[in-house]
Amino acid sequence: MDGERFTSRLIESKLLNEDTKILKFSVPENFEFKAGQYVTIAFYNEGKRILRSYSIFSSPHEKGFISICFKKVKEGFASGVLFDMKIDEKIEMKGPLGSFVLRNQKNELMFISAGTGFAPFRSMILNLLKNNFQNKIILLRGYRTEFGLCCENELANLKLIHKNFEYHNILSRPINKDYPFIGHVQDFLEKIVPKDFKGDFYICGLKEMVEGVKEKLLKMGIPRDQIFFERYN
Ligand SMILES: Cc1cc2nc3c(=O)[nH]c(=O)nc-3n(C[C@H](O)[C@H](O)[C@H](O)COP(=O)(O)OP(=O)(O)OC[C@H]3O[C@@H](n4cnc5c(N)ncnc54)[C@H](O)[C@@H]3O)c2cc1C
Repeated sequence: MDGERFTSRLIESKLLNEDTKILKFSVPENFEFKAGQYVTIAFYNEGKRILRSYSIFSSPHEKGFISICFKKVKEGFASGVLFDMKIDEKIEMKGPLGSFVLRNQKNELMFISAGTGFAPFRSMILNLLKNNFQNKIILLRGYRTEFGLCCENELANLKLIHKNFEYHNILSRPINKDYPFIGHVQDFLEKIVPKDFKGDFYICGLKEMVEGVKEKLLKMGIPRDQIFFERYN
């Protein structure tokens, strides 16, 4: 799926915690994408053009803009530039791109993310629930501490309204030492995946986490062709 190049303007910037932001960008009127796709953004470092990809965090039914959710990486060039962007500043984008989209919407669905790997899943889940998807959706998110959590109110509201949706947050280093789910997402799969779960697994995050989750799912007997993933590095 080949995307178009366009110039985008920063419309809104929201700081989630000390190193994570949600940015809302303008897109051309005819811009359409599938939940799970990403855009590439062009940056210039001493005259050298570099491209970085960012999953689209907003849902396809939200028109006229897209948002991304990203972490400012230590020593990272592109994420540092994005972090410092001011409202109305312009940037060059290309998109939509990527094939990490839902394959089979008849099945139950499980989404497993770490950190900003939640971005494509927010887009997918908002879109599925907006379209009245009735099968079970389970979201399992991993973060380092409570400060990393995003969209808590939104997810809690969705859970209240949609009985087929549940989500769990796993924290590897919670401030509250009594937090009930301490560890990494792969440590909780056996506990959280229902025994009779018949569906597809989507994983997104950094390589180590994606590989760890894949390995665990395969050990649990999940067929390889029911596991889909996007790696951020
Ligand atoms: C398809 C796709 C979608 C992506 N979507 C998102 C997204 O929605 N949100 C998001 O935050 N990132 C996303 N990424 C990662 C993003 O493209 C960049 O790699 C990231 O922002 C770092 O770029 P940088 O130029 O700041 O760092 P670089 O200058 O490339 O790297 C600096 C250092 O940071 C390390 N590093 C690189 N990426 C990460 C990371 N994510 N976490 C920790 N260390 C890292 C590198 O190994 C290196 O040591 C996605 C990547 C892909 C391939």
